[in-house]
Amino acid sequence: MMAQYLALKDQAPDCLLFYRMGDFFELFFDDARQAAQILDIALTSRGEHSGAPIPMCGVPVHSAESYLARLIRAGCRVAIAEQVETPEEAKKRGGSKALVARDIVRFVTAGTLTEEALLNPRESNVLVAICPLRESLGLAACDISTGTMELEECTAQTLGAALARLSPREVVCPQDWDMAPPEAVTREGRTFDSAAGETRLRDIHGVATLDGFGAFSRAMLAAAGGLIAYLDHVGRGRLPFLLPPVARGGHAHMAMDEATRASLEVLVSASGTRAGSLTDAVDRCVTGAGARLLAQDLSAPLLDVGMIGARLALVQWLAEDSLLRDDLRAALRAVPDLGRALGRVVAGRGSPRDLGQLRDGLAQAQALHDVLAARDDRPDLARALLPRLTGHQALVDLFTRALVATPPTERGQGGFIAEGYDADLDALRAASGNSRRAIAALEAKYRDETGVAALKIRHNGVLGYFIEVPARHADRLMQPDSGFTHRQTMAGAVRFNALALHEEASRIAEAGGHALAAEEAHFEDLIAQASAAREGIAASAAALARLDVAASHAQRAIEGGWCLPHVVEEPVLAIAGGRHPVVEAALAKAGERFVANDCTLAATDRLWLVGGPNMGGKSTFLRQNALIVLLAQAGAYVPAQSARVGLVDRLFSRVGASDNLARGRSTFMVEMVETAAILQQAGERSFVILDEVGRGTSTYDGLALAWAVAEAVHEVNRCRCLFATHYHEMQRLAETCPALSLHHVRAREWKGDLVLLHELAQGPADKSYGLAVARLAGVPDAVVKRARAVLDKLEKGRAATGGLAAGLGDLPLFAAAIEAAEEKVDALRDKLNALDIDALSPRAALDLLYDLKREA
Ligand code: ADP
Repeated sequence: MMAQYLALKDQAPDCLLFYRMGDFFELFFDDARQAAQILDIALTSRGEHSGAPIPMCGVPVHSAESYLARLIRAGCRVAIAEQVETPEEAKKRGGSKALVARDIVRFVTAGTLTEEALLNPRESNVLVAICPLRESLGLAACDISTGTMELEECTAQTLGAALARLSPREVVCPQDWDMAPPEAVTREGRTFDSAAGETRLRDIHGVATLDGFGAFSRAMLAAAGGLIAYLDHVGRGRLPFLLPPVARGGHAHMAMDEATRASLEVLVSASGTRAGSLTDAVDRCVTGAGARLLAQDLSAPLLDVGMIGARLALVQWLAEDSLLRDDLRAALRAVPDLGRALGRVVAGRGSPRDLGQLRDGLAQAQALHDVLAARDDRPDLARALLPRLTGHQALVDLFTRALVATPPTERGQGGFIAEGYDADLDALRAASGNSRRAIAALEAKYRDETGVAALKIRHNGVLGYFIEVPARHADRLMQPDSGFTHRQTMAGAVRFNALALHEEASRIAEAGGHALAAEEAHFEDLIAQASAAREGIAASAAALARLDVAASHAQRAIEGGWCLPHVVEEPVLAIAGGRHPVVEAALAKAGERFVANDCTLAATDRLWLVGGPNMGGKSTFLRQNALIVLLAQAGAYVPAQSARVGLVDRLFSRVGASDNLARGRSTFMVEMVETAAILQQAGERSFVILDEVGRGTSTYDGLALAWAVAEAVHEVNRCRCLFATHYHEMQRLAETCPALSLHHVRAREWKGDLVLLHELAQGPADKSYGLAVARLAGVPDAVVKRARAVLDKLEKGRAATGGLAAGLGDLPLFAAAIEAAEEKVDALRDKLNALDIDALSPRAALDLLYDLKREA
C-alpha cells in the first residue's frame, strides 16, 4: 500500500494527497503533520516506513468538503486519490490479497473550485495564467465556476494593476520566467504555446476561427494555452465549462494601480475584510451573481460616456419607479445561482439540485422578461437584456415535468425524478411500494401464526429485512418446521428470515435497483439537454446579474439620498454636497452626522491644496471625491447632491508613508516609488489624490519634496488633483501656480478646546492646531504644556531666521527652472552641430572642450 501511496504522491509533489481508504481520506507523512495542524485534528501513526512510524491523519469522506475548504483557505493544494475499482474487482484481478487500484481523479486548488460549499457566493473565483512574450505579457483569466474567460495583454509595468483588478485566487506562470509572482504556480514553459492555445479554443467552442469572438494577440493565445493546459492537468483531462473568450482592450477601463485600489479600499478594507470596503457600502444585490458583477464593475470603471450613460439610465429608471424596483428585486431574490449551477453541470459535477436551480432560475428569468416587456418606457439597456432572459421555455417545461420540487444534492439515492415523468419508473416505484405494504401485512400474519405479539419486521444495512422477536419467545420460531430460518442472536432478541419475506424483499431490491438505474439515465439525459443550451443559459445568468446590479444601485441611491451623476468628456469635477459612503455609514452607526462638502475642479482651477488640523477630515474629503468618480464611471449613483464628472482615464490615490507602516519596504521608499508612478503616468484626463505626501521623511526633505511634487503636478501632469498637506509653507505655491487654489478643513478653538467642524472652506489654513489635537487625543496636560513652551521657542527662532520657507520666494518657477536647463542643453547642441571637426587643430579642439565644460 505504501508503494502505491508513494507512487501517487510522486504525481502530486506540491499537493496534500487525500488517499481514499473506505469511508476516509487518509494523509501520511508531512502531509499529515501539515493538515493536522491546519485542521486541528488528531495526528496518529500507522505502520512503519524505513523503521520509523508513519504519521497519519484522516477526514471522513462525507464531510471532506468542509476540511477541503479550510485547507484551500490556508493556501494548500490538494490531490484527491480515489479507489477506481471495487474490492471485488481487485480480487478478481489479482487474487484475495490484491490492493484496490487508486488514482488521482482531481486536484483541488483555490482557482479551480466549482463546489457550492467551497465558494463564496458573492465573490468571483478567478484563475489567471500569465505568459511573457517578447516585450509584452499575455494574460488569460477565467472563473470556472461560471465559465467566463477573458484575454488581455499588458506590460511588466501594468501587470500589477491588471492583477489588482482581477484579484485572482491563483496564478499560473511558465517555469522559466524569472519575474513570476512569488506565490504563482509554475508549469512547464512549453504548455504556454500560442498555436496550441488557439487550437484548443477553437476545438472547445467548435469554431473554425476565433475571429468571431474578437482579436487575440499571440501573447494572449499563449496565455490561454497555458491556462487550458493547467485546467486539463487539474481536472485530469476533464475540462471545466468555458464560455467563448472575450478580448479586453487595454483602454476600455479606468486605470487604477494596486496602491490606489488598496488606499481607496475598493474591494477590501485596510484591515483586509469586505466589511468597511466601498463594495460592501454599495452592494444591495439580492443574488450572489449580482454581487460578483458589482464587484467587477467597481474594479473596472468604464471610459465610454455612452456605455456609462446606458448603465445609469437603467439605474435611473429603477430608482424613479419604486414599484417596478420592488417587483424586480422580489423576482430576483428567487433566482438561484444559475451561472455556478451551470458551471458544475457542464463540468460533469452537477447534482439533481443544480438541475433544479437551472429550472427555477430560467423560469424566473422568463418572469422578469415579462415584467420588463410589459413596459414601453424601458431604457436601451433593459431592451438589450430582454432577449437574453427568454427562450428557455422548452427546457423549463422539461425540467418541471422531470424533476421533483426540491431535488437532492446527492444523485446516488435517486428520488429526484418526478412522478408521472416516466411510466416505467412509476411502475417500479409502485412495485416496491406494493412490496413494502406486503411486508407490513406479513408482520401481522407472522404475529398471528406464532402468537408472539412483540414480533417485528425490521430492516438494516447488513441483513436487509428480517423478523425479530424477544429472546424469550425465540423457541417457537426455532422449531424445524416453523418456516423460519435463524439469522442472528442478539443480547435480548433473536432474528429470523422467512421465504415470503425474502421474496418480497428481493422484489423491493430489484425494483429499487431498476428505479435507480432509470433515474440515472434520465439524469444523464437532462444534463446533456442543459449542456446543449449552455451559452443561452449563461447569457441569461449574465443578464439577471446586470439587472440585479442596476436594482442594487437604485436601491442604494434611495436609501442614501444619492444622485444621478452627469458624466462628461471635459476635465471637470463639480460635486455639490459630496459624502464618503463608508465614513458616513460608520458615523451613522455612532449616531453622528456626516458633513457634506463641495469640490469644484476645472481646467483653470485644477489643483486644490487642502490644509487644516489632523483629524479635520482631509483624507475623507480627498477619498470621497475619488470614490464618487469611480462610482460614476462604474455606472452607479453617487453620494452627493449633484455631481458633474469629467471622464477620468487614470485614478491615483496616495497616502503619505506613516499611515502605511505594515509594509516590508522602507515606507518612505514606498511612498516615493508610488509618487514617481503618478508623476510618470498622470495626464490631463487623470485624477490624483495625494494625502500628506512627503510626510515620511524629515521636515525639510518632506516639505521640499511635497513642494516639487505639487509643482510638477501643476506644470507637467496638468491633471485634476487634491493635495492634502499640513505644511503651511506650501500655501505660498498659490502665488506662482495659477491653477492651484487653497482650501482647508475648518476648526475652531472654543474655551481652550478644539472643535473640528469637518467643513471645507476656501483660503489658507490659519494655524496647525497640532497641540490642540494632541490634547483632544488625551495626551496629558503636562506634556501639552511643555510642548507649548517648546513651540514658542521654535517659533521665535523661526521669526528671527525668516522661517522654514524663507527664501522660497526667490525660487524660480518649476517650469522656468526646467526651461533654463533645457535652453542650456540646446545651446550646447547647436554649438556641437556647427563644428567642423576635421578642420580643428588638436590644440583648438582641446580649448573647445574646456569651453564646453565651463558652459555646461
Ligand atoms: P485628516 O485626514 O484631516 O487627519 P480624516 O479625514 O482622517 O482627517 O478624518 C478624521 C475623522 O474625522 C474621520 O475618521 C471621521 O470620523 C471624521 N470626519 C471626517 N470627515 C468628516 C465629515 N465630512 N463629517 C463628519 N465627520 C468627519
